[in-house]
Amino acid sequence: MRKKIIAGNWKMNNTVSEAVKLVSSLTKKIEKNPPSSTGVIICPPATALASVAPLLKGTPIEMGAQNIFWEEGGAYTGEVSAKMVKNAGAKYTLVAHSERRTYFKESPTVINKKIKLALANKLKVIHCIGETLEEREQKLTKDIVLNQVEWDLKDLTPQDLKNVIIAYEPVWAIGTGKVATPEQAQEVHGFIREILDAIFEPGTGKKMTLLYGGSMKPDNAAGLLAQPDIDGGLIGGACLKADDFMKLIKASEAASK
Ligand code: PEP
Repeated sequence: MRKKIIAGNWKMNNTVSEAVKLVSSLTKKIEKNPPSSTGVIICPPATALASVAPLLKGTPIEMGAQNIFWEEGGAYTGEVSAKMVKNAGAKYTLVAHSERRTYFKESPTVINKKIKLALANKLKVIHCIGETLEEREQKLTKDIVLNQVEWDLKDLTPQDLKNVIIAYEPVWAIGTGKVATPEQAQEVHGFIREILDAIFEPGTGKKMTLLYGGSMKPDNAAGLLAQPDIDGGLIGGACLKADDFMKLIKASEAASK
């Protein structure tokens, strides 16, 4: 059975001291209500990784980076490598968040390189996919996610895929307060499982963890998490408040029963 996961993407929020404060508050809440069937991941900004890591020791919370560069290292001013975030304590990295596709024009080739490099550095990957509003209105959602899965994950082996989580995040729902209905999200998640079987090998789809992301909040999480093909959430805005993030963990626990 696939375990549920609640992952928080802090984006470009929180200084080191703010990060320490938020994590301290979250770990206290989690100590009181340790989840039994939900994995918890937080993705602070790169500057806070090394300070947050020691606070997570002995807790069920794992840490991810938000981004890595596509080369191992060298003359790439301003970039952060897979090895650096791993050494700072990250176990995961997000790859291909829609904000990176949009603002940094990350192409399938770049995304594929990043995913392979993360895996080679023993970082698990949370790979984000999803269509824009325009694409949904043109009924292109399935074509878009098919292309993203096919090209971003090109040449990955079944062993590689054990370390990849896919987050379906319709771009029109990210940070907008417009959440996909549980039915809309379920339809795409079910389709992703089908294409994983077709692109890789039969049985791949049901093994992989698929998260929904896009304005998931404590008051709309239950319906989404109750869907058979939704294994949890990638949370932006609502992960910046320990209370709300804890409510989402509880919603996931309730949905796992
Ligand atoms: C995200 O950034 O991945 C996200 C889902 O953001 P929000 O929850 O704020 O829509």
